Amino acid sequence: MVSKELLKRITRKIETMPVIDLHCHLNCGRVFKPKHGQLKASNLTDILFYHFVQAELVSSGMPIEKLSEKINPEERVKNALPYLKHIRNTSTYWSLRKIFSDLYGLKEDITGKNWEIFYEKVLQSNQKKNWAEEVLLDKAKIKHFVTPVINRNPKKNPEFASFTYESAGIYPALFDFEDLFSHLQSLLKIKSADSLKEAVNNFFKNMLKEEVSSITTWIPCDFKFFEVKKNEIDTIFKKKKSSFSKIDKAKLLSFALGQILKCASEKKFPVFMPIGAKVVNAYPITQTGYSISEFSSSIGKEISLLACRYPQVEFLMLSATINLCQELAIVAKMCPNVYVMGYWWHCLYPTYIERMLSERLEILPANKIIGFFSDAYCVEWSYGKLSLIKKVLAKVLTEKVQEGYFSEDFAIELVQKILYENPERIFRI
Ligand SMILES: [Zn+2]
Repeated sequence: MVSKELLKRITRKIETMPVIDLHCHLNCGRVFKPKHGQLKASNLTDILFYHFVQAELVSSGMPIEKLSEKINPEERVKNALPYLKHIRNTSTYWSLRKIFSDLYGLKEDITGKNWEIFYEKVLQSNQKKNWAEEVLLDKAKIKHFVTPVINRNPKKNPEFASFTYESAGIYPALFDFEDLFSHLQSLLKIKSADSLKEAVNNFFKNMLKEEVSSITTWIPCDFKFFEVKKNEIDTIFKKKKSSFSKIDKAKLLSFALGQILKCASEKKFPVFMPIGAKVVNAYPITQTGYSISEFSSSIGKEISLLACRYPQVEFLMLSATINLCQELAIVAKMCPNVYVMGYWWHCLYPTYIERMLSERLEILPANKIIGFFSDAYCVEWSYGKLSLIKKVLAKVLTEKVQEGYFSEDFAIELVQKILYENPERIFRI
């Protein structure tokens, strides 16, 4: 049985501690482009229809057409009301409830009787000049965030001053072979090892003009890394593209990835490497399609080989599948330049967070764990997601203290490390 007193003390301590959000989609200016995130919710739909809430609503039976952005926001909220009751059990809904109760003082569930009050409150907060800062700094204690460079606002008129950029460009690139080459080819015609190398270099030259401090590269779960020579690449390019074999494609990807990692190494940029999810556009359960978790038994080995091949690069591994939880922790234990970071997409549920946190604390040195990133598209969800993670963190630490693994004071030191000091050090913030 968890000691309620100890849990309360640890929870209270965690509430006061500073946090860095290493990956989110907050837009740093006042020009709102909802597809790429914004800084604060412009109306209730930005909170209520976060893409995983959308997925749950549609899964529960809501026709996706009723969520269309062509419908005015008030109508969309009314459309969702009959389905919200089906998702009150989920932890995504727990975060939603936490947002409404802690940020707006709305303790009741949203219903047909009270939705207009919710709607009005969010509109009012949007008009407040310092709302974003109030939520991030005062409520969440988030001191700094990292957002894709696509969210850069040249007007530089942010309501929240402390942020840096990650390159957003390469993640669809390695997502699949065709994407990578169509992406790079828009910059240069690729027909040899040298031109492929140049295309990657050009891509980075363009990307890194903006104040970028890290790189994201998304590798497929069945990825296999080949040490491949230039002449092998030239030989592949002599073939017709339609006759490239699976191994040819893997070699081309390996060669391109090698260049990407070389660039990262030269710039001393940490590399975010999300794995364990695949976006499927076949049947749109949200406005942006849907994703599934995926797994392969060889990916741990491939990542460890990459880490040994590029010892200067710091790899930050994000997993969307619980099936790679142990593998990644072990790779991070064996490779000094591999870190584990947060709980991505299909792992962001208390059961999985608890397991991942507990395992990582038992397996890894404390400076190898990054305990949080929000992936949020508005500050209200930065708060909602952080609240969920803090709740689980308090529970896991309380159990470990009770079981005698470490003291209560040391538990608090761990929180400081995994929520703030580790990201601060790795990102030189
Ligand atoms: Zn993201």
